[in-house]
Amino acid sequence: MKSHMKLPAIQLTGAQPVRHARSRSGNTETLQVTVRLLDDAGTLGPPIEVPKIVKSDEAWRAQLSDEQFRITRTHDTERAFCGIFHDNHQHGLYTCVCCGLPLFRSDAKFDSGTGWPSFFQPVAQENIGRTTDTSFGMVRTEAHCVRCDSHLGHVFEDGPVPTGLRYCINSAALTFRENGAKPAREWVLFGAGCFWGIEANFAKVKGVRNTRVGYSGGVTKSPTYEDVCSHTTGHAEVVEVGYEPAQLNFAALLDVFWRIHDPTTGHRQGPDIGSQYRSAIFFTTPEQEATARASAARLEKSGELSGPITTEILLATPFYAAEEYHQKYYAKHGGGNCRIL
Ligand SMILES: [Zn+2]
Repeated sequence: MKSHMKLPAIQLTGAQPVRHARSRSGNTETLQVTVRLLDDAGTLGPPIEVPKIVKSDEAWRAQLSDEQFRITRTHDTERAFCGIFHDNHQHGLYTCVCCGLPLFRSDAKFDSGTGWPSFFQPVAQENIGRTTDTSFGMVRTEAHCVRCDSHLGHVFEDGPVPTGLRYCINSAALTFRENGAKPAREWVLFGAGCFWGIEANFAKVKGVRNTRVGYSGGVTKSPTYEDVCSHTTGHAEVVEVGYEPAQLNFAALLDVFWRIHDPTTGHRQGPDIGSQYRSAIFFTTPEQEATARASAARLEKSGELSGPITTEILLATPFYAAEEYHQKYYAKHGGGNCRIL
């Protein structure tokens, strides 16, 4: 890779095959891409179709640090030996910093001496897109996340066996999770309509240790309730759920989520209409994503629902706690019209 100089626009010539599909939540067409996820045991799942992620620069800036944005969304390159992962020898999984897609395992990482994290193969060929990059008078193969088009780095043909390839990747494009990391507490954000009732439901689930209501998934920082209600920030009302994996597995938490709202109604829950009330699972680990997608697919096949699931399943973006008067609202005031288990 070149130094930290900004690359000119690259020519997109090798895009991965994508499929157009009717959006589950409306009449607009959405692109579908084929990826593979990892389950709880780290086993690679079969190829599945997921929506391609397309966001405005404003939305990416609201989610990423300046460095992450510069590298992944403007095709820049971090300085050699300056990234946080080039010398990381821990065992674990590297995922896309923008969308959470599993990209590389540590057992495919090697010390290339270049100053950038280097891998001889990805988790799954499906998850990496490639384009021809003719900047700087060279012909190189650029690598990107197939789901969100995040620029990762380049692929060279001077790697070690068994592939002979060297995926030269920017640290800033990656998030790392150590193998066997079993934190006492995990986090997830759920959107399922009015957050007062959703929090009341999750707060009483055994194994849930804390809940907060707030806003996530939008394009502005630190929104107020009035901002969100203006329908201009893109945020959803969400409940941040902290739970103990040793006491409560994520699949059981999802069962509660499906039961307490209608996941087929797009931007509406009962009388509440607008994108802030959309059904959403904002995951924080790749295992949560795989479990959520499998759970949604099972539910959809079961015939229990009145239509296709419209729930967004996306990597969690910054969570902004709602104003104090929204917290534990039903515990403080009782009653309410939202559905309670
Ligand atoms: Zn991605």
